[in-house]
This record gives sequence, structure tokens and C-alpha cells, in this order.
Amino acid sequence: MTHNSDRAFRTRAVHDGHGLDPATGAHATPIYATSTFGYGSAERGARLFAGEEQGYFYSRLSNPTVRAFEQKLASLEGLPDAVAFASGMGAVSAVCLTLLSPGDEVIFVAPLYGGTTGFLREVATKFGVTVHEAADEAAVEALAGPRTRLIWVETPTNPRLGIVDLGRVARAARACGALSAADNTFSTPALTRPAEHGIDLVMHSATKYLGGHGDAIGGVVAGPEALLAELRGVGLRHVGASLGPFEAYLFLRGMKTLPLRMQAHCEGAQALAAALDGHPALQALHYPGLRTHPGHAVAARQMSGFGGLVSVDLGSQAAAMTFLNHLQLFTQAVSLGDVESLSCHPGSTTHALLGEAALVRQGVTPGLVRLSVGIEDPADLIRDVLGALAHVPVTGDKRLRP
Ligand SMILES: *Cc1c(COP(=O)(O)O)cnc(C)c1O
Repeated sequence: MTHNSDRAFRTRAVHDGHGLDPATGAHATPIYATSTFGYGSAERGARLFAGEEQGYFYSRLSNPTVRAFEQKLASLEGLPDAVAFASGMGAVSAVCLTLLSPGDEVIFVAPLYGGTTGFLREVATKFGVTVHEAADEAAVEALAGPRTRLIWVETPTNPRLGIVDLGRVARAARACGALSAADNTFSTPALTRPAEHGIDLVMHSATKYLGGHGDAIGGVVAGPEALLAELRGVGLRHVGASLGPFEAYLFLRGMKTLPLRMQAHCEGAQALAAALDGHPALQALHYPGLRTHPGHAVAARQMSGFGGLVSVDLGSQAAAMTFLNHLQLFTQAVSLGDVESLSCHPGSTTHALLGEAALVRQGVTPGLVRLSVGIEDPADLIRDVLGALAHVPVTGDKRLRP
């Protein structure tokens, strides 16, 4: 395994985490499709189980293909180690079940991915954990106290693409002796490395940009060695949402082009946002790369590109659905971060379970559409979106809005 922090990000994306296969010299990382590994001797088996010797013995705990994926991600996040999981939610639940105890408090900055909020509210609370929702960084500072164990954030947020100041959250956590965790799925380490802002644990749904091709489900958590040893020993071993070697292979392959893909996603999204700015059929346009976005200054500080997601508000659910039904290049589907462009109506799909009050609080309006901009030519994507907008009946009322 190689870890060369003196090399540039693009070089590490290609090379880190793996070398020639020690058994055969294979250049591409082999898919180690095996559940178990022979000890060689009864004494070695005992040493492996006692932790006196490092080695593979069962793929729920570790597997060479999965290990290469973990090492590559750790290198890209600039953190000592990582542990892979069968899904992003597998990662979220393992972190919470490992770190939280009865009496602990968790603070999260809303909105988070729906599954994460669901886990905190519906599962963590069953184990005597108190969960606090904070609207922003100032609310985090006000809620943080001696019982706070974990502060969980996501940036940019879904689906309105709000920006959370990672440095400020990390300082709030440190001040009260809590751990900070950032879900870096939307930014990826190509754009933001939360550890550089003091965040302790960095989590991903690898399903999205890390894989990048929409063909695998997985998750991963990177962080300091001691915490990750605990996560592997408890959250992975006892909960068991382990990543399979075939998926790990797909993520390894995808991550080699992560920097190139992210550059194309950002260029496409920025060009689309610029083309849509001021469009009369839109009530609102959300993209952190626009100077008018409320989080633009913080985003410019903590991101090296503004990401591949753009959200638009068409004013009503009917208008949003007409728009979606006329898109041709943006497949209507949940998920994001694929090379192909995707579109969805969060109010009636991904966020529908939130209920009316939370939808209003989190700004998930009936007319909101989320666009995951793929790596197609931006001119084709812009033509597709403008063409679909032309089918949206524009009421006189909406025309008056800026
Ligand atoms: C998709 C997603 C998750 C959940 O990941 P799965 O791989 O679907 O389990 C968590 N956080 C964010 C930000 C996501 O987009």
C-alpha cells in the first residue's frame, strides 16, 4: 500500500491504496472473491484472532480489494485510515452505534440526508440518545454542551445546496469535547477535505461521485486511527454492513478519474447555473457558485469548485412536473453524482416522508427540482433544460418576479 502525501491529488487518485498484487504482480487490483482466508497454521489462527498478527481472515472484517479502496479514500481525504461499508447508510449507522451511548447528545445541522435524519430520530433515540436539530452554525454553538458527543453536518446540503462552515462546526465540537462528523458525499475530497478544517470523521455514500458511474452501492468513513479501529471492531464487526469486493473494485476504478469527473461536473453545473440566472420561468435558482448564493463566500473558502448539483424552483408542483417530463438528457431518478445527468422532485420523492412542517422548514418547496449535472457537454445540457423550461406555462404573476 502506498500513501504519498507529497504527491498531488490527481496523482494520488490514480496510484494510492494499491500496488502490484503481491501474489501475482497483477497491475489492476484483483477482486478477492473469498469469504475466508486460510491461517496456514493453528498457531497463526490464534495470533490473528488475538490481534497479535495483522492479516486477513474473514471478509466481513477485511478483504484485500476492500482494503485498497479504504486506503485510496483515506489518502484523498488526507486522513490516516478509512473503513468501508455496504452503503452510505451502513456507514452512518455504524458510526452512531459505535460512538453513542445512553445519555449522549447529538447535534445535526438541518437538512441532512433523509436516511441520516431518520436513523438519528428513529434508531439512535431508542438507545437513550438525545438528538438536537440546529438551523445553522450559531445554533450549534448554542446547543453544544458537556453531554454533546457528536456534531453531524453535510455540505452542500440537499436539496437547496446550503453551505455549512466546517471550521466553525469543528471548533464548536472541540470546545465542548465532542467529535465532529461531515458527510462529504456532495463535495468529495476533490473539492473539500473536511479534515483540513478540523473535522474528525469524514463519511461518504460512495454510491454517488466516488463510484461515479451509478453501478454500485457503498459507503466509507475516514478518520484518525484509534477511532477507526473502534469503528472496525464494533460498527463493522458487530453490525456487519460490510462492503463486497466487487463493489470495492468498482469504487477503486471510479476514484482514479474522480478529479477529472469533478472538474467536468463543476464546469457543467456552473455553465448551467449561469445560463439559467434570471430565467423568467424560475422563482429561484440555487447554486453555491453564484455570487448571489448566501453561502457563496464560505463555499469559495472551503471548496475548490462549487459542485455538480443545481436546484431550481418553478413555483408549483405542476410546473416542476411539466419541466421534469420534458427533460431528455436528465434521467428522472433518485441518486446523484453519476456521469449521466439525473433529475428529481424532492418534495414528492426523496423528501416526501419529512412531512409538511419539515418540508417548509428545510425549504423543500413544491416547485423545487434538483438537477445532478453529469459530464455531458454543457451546451447540450443547457439546451435540454432551456427546452424543457419552454414547456412550463409562465403565469403573469411569476413573470414579475426577478
Ligand atoms: C445517498 C446519500 C447517503 C446514503 O447513502 P447510500 O449509499 O444510499 O446508503 C448519505 N448521505 C448523502 C449525502 C447521500 O447523498
